[in-house]
Amino acid sequence: MPHEIAPRSGVAFTIDKGQTLTVIDPRGEQVADLLAFNRDDIGEVISSGRTLDYASRIYLTTGDPLYSNRSNVMLTIVEDDVGRHDFLLTPCSKDTFRIIYGDTDPHRGCFGNLAEALAPHGVTPDMIPIAFNVFMNVPIDGTTGELKVEPPLSKAGDRLVLRAEMDLIIGLTACSALQSNNGSFKPIHWMVE
Ligand SMILES: [Zn+2]
Repeated sequence: MPHEIAPRSGVAFTIDKGQTLTVIDPRGEQVADLLAFNRDDIGEVISSGRTLDYASRIYLTTGDPLYSNRSNVMLTIVEDDVGRHDFLLTPCSKDTFRIIYGDTDPHRGCFGNLAEALAPHGVTPDMIPIAFNVFMNVPIDGTTGELKVEPPLSKAGDRLVLRAEMDLIIGLTACSALQSNNGSFKPIHWMVE
């Protein structure tokens, strides 16, 4: 049975090299922010910049490796029901909700949820990079570079499966931003095998 992450919350857990992590969108149109740290040295962390550089593409799917800041492969996507994820935008945060939504009492967002869940592993907020935003749909205008946050293309039960290429600490959320999730907050399911 998969574990459930409640709406607008997050978890951290460890995964061994060779195991797979399955991220499931149980209801559809829900984003999950994914972080990975090397379990033996948390200075090594998932890197959007390295990964997109080596892929020469911003949309990643089955077969694509996710690299660390030290250019080691941390995870490889081995199954993908959706084919659209984002690796450009930072985890939503108090500041996201203050600046983009104009909230006066903003939710702590994925950033706050990840910071709390990862703190017992020694990760401090300033160590949190751009997350791999599973199921997040951010189309880009190829001429102007303008980006939009649109509803995820994921339908109920869609999955993304990643293989761990080293021993990892994983941070994972059910995203807290209205825009990213087509206006409603839903759970995320995950399992390690
Ligand atoms: Zn979020």
